[in-house]
Amino acid sequence: MNPDRLVLLDIDGTILLTAGAGRRAITAALGEHVGEVSSFQHMRFDGKTDPQIVGEMLAMAGHEPPHDGERVAALCRRYVALLERELASGASSTTLMPGIERLLLRLAGEQRVALGLLTGNLVDGAELKLRAAGLDSRQFVVGAYGSDSHDRCELPAIAAARARPLFGHVPSGEEVIIIGDTPADITCGLGIGARAIAVATGAYSVEDLSLHRPWAVLPDLSDTEAVMAAILG
Ligand SMILES: [Mg+2]
Repeated sequence: MNPDRLVLLDIDGTILLTAGAGRRAITAALGEHVGEVSSFQHMRFDGKTDPQIVGEMLAMAGHEPPHDGERVAALCRRYVALLERELASGASSTTLMPGIERLLLRLAGEQRVALGLLTGNLVDGAELKLRAAGLDSRQFVVGAYGSDSHDRCELPAIAAARARPLFGHVPSGEEVIIIGDTPADITCGLGIGARAIAVATGAYSVEDLSLHRPWAVLPDLSDTEAVMAAILG
């Protein structure tokens, strides 16, 4: 039986928190390049892709656009190297969000579901963060990452195209469920008609997220059957 739901999970604030390791690593990578980092202190990272964050930091540091191409790619590579060091240093502990382990087990046992990732992390950064949280990245059979596009809105179609062999067609509409903690997770899938399940385990409250009209909104992912009902409904 082919699956009829492609479930795409965001990582930061949805699956796990790295206790600032990601922020410290990307700030350090930029600091090596531009020097002064104090202007990045209050910058928001959530909902953004890593190349987007790097581009915005370059702009804040007064570097002229374009903020793409080889310079951003080199800074992203340096960020991943520093992230690996941060996560290995023990300076921060990566923690799973409530209910994630149970939900992943339940999803793995649901034949209707193909499980994937939709994250602004670079693919290598995603792997490092999942490993730091004790999760096997191979359980996510498809993914779209910040390394695929700096624009989160392009990621749902990329993930859907990669899921084609599993579905026998490119899934779209209600077949695609995006689970994330920011308004960007909710709105990025509008182009392919995806349903969004918003979860208030990041910086946004249930009320904040509701304003963006997700398919469902939950305080966290600890009520496994409520999440499954929203996915399969
Ligand atoms: Mg997030």
